[in-house]
Amino acid sequence: MKVVAIIPAAGTGTRMRASSPKQFLSLAGHPIIVHTLKKFTSCRLIQRVIVPVRKPDLLQFQEVVEKEGLSRWVKLVPGGIHRQDSVYAGLKAVDEDTDIVVVHDAVRPFVEISLIEAVIKEAETNGSAILALPCSDTVKQIEKNLVETTLPRDKIVLVQTPQAFRYNILKEGFEKATAENFYATDESCLIERLGYPVSVIRGSDMNIKITKPSDLPLAELYIKIQGTPTKSA
Ligand code: C5P
Repeated sequence: MKVVAIIPAAGTGTRMRASSPKQFLSLAGHPIIVHTLKKFTSCRLIQRVIVPVRKPDLLQFQEVVEKEGLSRWVKLVPGGIHRQDSVYAGLKAVDEDTDIVVVHDAVRPFVEISLIEAVIKEAETNGSAILALPCSDTVKQIEKNLVETTLPRDKIVLVQTPQAFRYNILKEGFEKATAENFYATDESCLIERLGYPVSVIRGSDMNIKITKPSDLPLAELYIKIQGTPTKSA
């Protein structure tokens, strides 16, 4: 089975209010994205990792990839304006004979390798698979600052990455979305629009998306629990 990962890292990270994009902030002496990449290069099922980055970051990040001993697996491509454009740029760099493509946010470094493998295996069987957590808060739909309705919490999940897809399904999803100028915040939405099933696997509480300044102390704690990456995978 040929499996390729796409790890979009071309965001500007405005919500972090830091001088560099959040994926390049240092955590235990390594950029956040390096911690993420090492999870994927350590996963035995994955042969290649494609990383869309902003054009001005390409050269500098290539140096990081080499210094961290990851160049055997990692290929950088220029990203796009929206996350979806970046992932599509990554998908265009994937070989046509690939069986499964797994997409993961650069800023989720604490994903367990067993969960990466679980979505890949489920996608092999069922076509598409995502990680998600049950929702413990009450969920309401609002319009401006007024409540419209309360949603049934037991039918809601909070979606994480990685998400895995058979290559042909993901390609079809992107082609339809592009033709219709449709944008989503995750890839599985593009597959739902095709009418194909998407399996849900329970994610992990530690698999946080480092997005805002208040996520950093939690990230410092989780890196202590999980440990820092070795020099190369
Ligand atoms: O913006 P959001 O928090 O959804 O970003 C999730 C991931 O997508 C991050 O790893 C970010 O770097 C990436 N991204 C991207 N290209 C963009 C915007 C976001 O690769 N244009």
